[in-house]
Amino acid sequence: MMSELLDLNLVEASKALKNKEISSLELTKAYLKSISDTSSLGAYLEIVEDKAINMAKESDKKLIDATARPLEGVPIGIKDMFCTKDIKTTASSKILENFIPTYESTVTQNLWNDGAVILGKLSCDEFAMGSSNETAAKGNVINPWLKNKKMSPGGSSGGSAAAVAARSALAATGTDTGGSIRQPAAFCGITGLKPTYGRCSRWGIVAFSSSLDQAGPLTRTVSDAALMLNSMAGYDQKDSTSANLKMPDLMDYLDKGIKGKKIGIPKEYTQDGISEDIVKFYEKSIGWLRDEGAEIIPVSLPHTKYALPAYYIIAPAEASSNLARYDGVRYGARQEASSLDEMYELTRGNGFGDEVKRRIMIGTYVLSSGYYDAYYLKAQKVRRLIKEDFENVYKKVDYILTPSTPTTSFELGKKQDPLTMYLNDIFTVPASLAGLPGISLPVGLDKSGLPIGIQLIANSFDEAGLISTARVLEMSAGFNFIADGAAK
Ligand code: GLN
Repeated sequence: MMSELLDLNLVEASKALKNKEISSLELTKAYLKSISDTSSLGAYLEIVEDKAINMAKESDKKLIDATARPLEGVPIGIKDMFCTKDIKTTASSKILENFIPTYESTVTQNLWNDGAVILGKLSCDEFAMGSSNETAAKGNVINPWLKNKKMSPGGSSGGSAAAVAARSALAATGTDTGGSIRQPAAFCGITGLKPTYGRCSRWGIVAFSSSLDQAGPLTRTVSDAALMLNSMAGYDQKDSTSANLKMPDLMDYLDKGIKGKKIGIPKEYTQDGISEDIVKFYEKSIGWLRDEGAEIIPVSLPHTKYALPAYYIIAPAEASSNLARYDGVRYGARQEASSLDEMYELTRGNGFGDEVKRRIMIGTYVLSSGYYDAYYLKAQKVRRLIKEDFENVYKKVDYILTPSTPTTSFELGKKQDPLTMYLNDIFTVPASLAGLPGISLPVGLDKSGLPIGIQLIANSFDEAGLISTARVLEMSAGFNFIADGAAK
């Protein structure tokens, strides 16, 4: 029975709950068991068993008296970047190891308002800075694929992706600043959707780079992503960059097809250094979309090569400013000392990990007087050019297809230098800088049996079209492998 329950994806489970074929309590218990069966992956930082059981019971009442809400009774995991009232929220950092928020983030509140059940908080790279989940203060998460090898789940939403792939959460939330939803989704063989900047409220999410941060779902399927995003998205007065634009019901767009749609293939995304198997599946994906009636059009995004350098100035600059609040006074575990300066030094010196310190130093440097114009301002100008590249291309095509990552997952522990790590985001960062919605979905396995992700990028606020197109690709690819390290 347990395995049958775990076999249901979010949309199927939700249907079975509404038809009273299963109860939220039994489903939630199956997931709690699966969390304990897969605990060696290290995906969860905090499990809230009692709360999960209580929420499941509440949901069962609503399911019985037919007042069920869209996500009634489905057990999900939350990335530890989302503040959850009365539940520890650490952003995977030592400096927040004892932080218990007195408020709930808007996105998670939206999910609870729609009936979802919380299982716990999921690990990530510290303050969402990283691409391997290795910067997490409590140690890395293990990818459930190739379980004998200890592969990286990607990052920063590594815990979220690993949990969904390991079937220890029916779905999860993530945040994406430069690829943190799409890259781990690609590494773990699941679907990850980063909405348009402004679609989901940032209120109550631990801030990394405010002009880039965006919440989104990590799920098993495209339909599951649509169902989750329906609940997560929405205008919020408490976030000044929240878009006051109604999103259509994404579930209505699953079967619209792509006949007559134009798909752009950017020539800058097929450079050297990308794995052969990924190229093969990228070409297959182009073929599948063509077979389904799309027109394939070569396009150019000439400023792509400047995206990473611009990102690694803008993101650290904003991070250095956002992280100033962790000073042991306003936020952060204070280290006592004999003077104020020493207290700051000890608190921040002990509380932050190496990668976070590196970003704070880069950020402070590029914002300092004398360097501001040379670096920060220049990077902002490049960002505009990158956005204009996309605007020009969207005059000719509806969607852009790219690989999600240059390689599949890599082995943990083989310390990569920061630059190699930064290169992992080469295909996801441009859409982040332009604020565009993107989705990564699994289309196949490479020679060693690791999942390959392909990315679709849509124009601003066209999540509906992104879902229709992704769904076509998903059906053609027919990816139905389950990780060997997943709960059975
Ligand atoms: N890997 C990228 C970084 O380290 C992106 C992280 C993210 O999207 N949060 O900044």
